[in-house]
Amino acid sequence: MIVTNNNLNVLPRSLTTQSDVEYALAHTDAGLRLAVCASTGSASLRAFEGESSELGGQTLKLCPLSPANAAALRSMLPWLQPRPLGLKTSAGMGDRIGLATPGHVRAVRATGSVIAPIFAQQSIREMVRTERTPQQVMDDATWGIFQEGWQSGAGADADHLKTPADIDACLAAGYSFFTIDPGEYVDNRAETADFDTLRELAELLPGQIQPRASGLSNGSFNIEDLQIQFDEFTLTKAAVKYGRAIEHVAAMYHHLAGAAGQHPFELEVSVDETEQPTSHAEHIYIASELKRLGVQWVSLAPRYVGSFEKGVDYIGSIPAFQRDFAGHAAIARHFGPYKLSLHSGSDKFSIYPIAARLTHGLVHLKTAGTSYLEALRTIAAVDVDLFREIYLFARERFETDKFSYHVSAQLERAPLAEEVPDCTALLDQFDARQILHIAFGSVLTGRATDGNYRFHDRFISMLHEHSELYAGNLEKHFIRHLKPFAEVRD
Ligand SMILES: [Zn+2]
Repeated sequence: MIVTNNNLNVLPRSLTTQSDVEYALAHTDAGLRLAVCASTGSASLRAFEGESSELGGQTLKLCPLSPANAAALRSMLPWLQPRPLGLKTSAGMGDRIGLATPGHVRAVRATGSVIAPIFAQQSIREMVRTERTPQQVMDDATWGIFQEGWQSGAGADADHLKTPADIDACLAAGYSFFTIDPGEYVDNRAETADFDTLRELAELLPGQIQPRASGLSNGSFNIEDLQIQFDEFTLTKAAVKYGRAIEHVAAMYHHLAGAAGQHPFELEVSVDETEQPTSHAEHIYIASELKRLGVQWVSLAPRYVGSFEKGVDYIGSIPAFQRDFAGHAAIARHFGPYKLSLHSGSDKFSIYPIAARLTHGLVHLKTAGTSYLEALRTIAAVDVDLFREIYLFARERFETDKFSYHVSAQLERAPLAEEVPDCTALLDQFDARQILHIAFGSVLTGRATDGNYRFHDRFISMLHEHSELYAGNLEKHFIRHLKPFAEVRD
């Protein structure tokens, strides 16, 4: 009945039937609505809140895109429920705005539907910055997945969790992939401390993570081409640097496993946001200790060599990355197998083929801010004045906003908007791109002196109005991200 109802402007890929109930997204005068149609009296209709109309024994209900309706839709259409992805080659496509999922789905399809996707993915830090809750992030992804009719399943990544309370909040919202970030427990003093100091620091570790408890003393590992000896110095340094972090991950994991009950989940361990790279010996130490403490994980993000700055390609020696990454991949196969995870993975085009090939596809790519930049590209094309205003504001915010991000942009190297013939060029200039990238929180939540949002409402309505252009920009950009990984899967 939905399709034959001439008053409804249905988004065609959303239309689906389940247990004799039709569901679709439709444009209406009041905005986008979920249309549910079934025989009058059907119990399924009662699960949704909205306005009903009846014709010939059928009831059509037009429902707002509310949290309650998102939850009801997920329970009616099981393919909308986040699920663990296991060891499949996967990619997380974070979305700071909440409108990017349709473009992400199209890119996954355009690359052969072989990459297992994560559409809902945001760290607690970014949620705070964008004034969104775990549930909003989840629901936005749900509507996008539904709109595109993606029925092959997806995960949902509660990213960079630091406390048990973070876990509880994301578990309640139905996440399936939990990224534990014990970065605050990594002791960077180990990098420069002498042997005596390391021994003293090791003595201060709790008993269960003392070097002698690890069982690695004088151990040696031959893993593919790697040969690693755990002499006393190597082991003590690894324990001092990562011991407390491992203990924290184990505590978080056991909390999660207890709280999750029957809810299926998978775990990622990330130490990517630390100052110093993770050596191969340290990776072995981490994997071996996590196992000993009963942690099960599906992916791990070491801190690789080189520089993973926001929104730009890999910075550093490619051959050095290749050697480093090959060792980590061998360790992940040996101790798992588990996937290597590539954080700050946005726009690292020069290393994707290497990462895909050396892991044999046992890899998870994690991107976030690059989708926001595609939103800006969309705005630059349809409202150049708004784009220029945002860029000017981002420049003003730069010295303040840059502190929590890994960027090397310099204001004086970034051209002014007036200096470029076409504003989209700013999105491809290193410094301007990073300046735009890290200002997202200020842009999306900043308020003018009258208390109203400075950009937010205009920003969002522009993307709604030009949703096809935005989805197209995202699709094109994400094909570049996913293709090297999809090719390894073929
Ligand atoms: Zn990360």
